[in-house]
Amino acid sequence: MKICPVCKSNRITLYIGGYFGKYECKKCSYVGNLILEKDEKKKNKKRKDKI
Ligand SMILES: [Zn+2]
Repeated sequence: MKICPVCKSNRITLYIGGYFGKYECKKCSYVGNLILEKDEKKKNKKRKDKI
């Protein structure tokens, strides 16, 4: 999950311009190659071994 470093929005799309792919934030119009990545929901390990 990609997060905008400016507004912390997850509305990030790939913005291709130049040699490297950049990212564009649909919320604040941020464009750049710096992006935050955040894990999705933590996996709940509720299942334990039951005898
Ligand atoms: Zn943003």
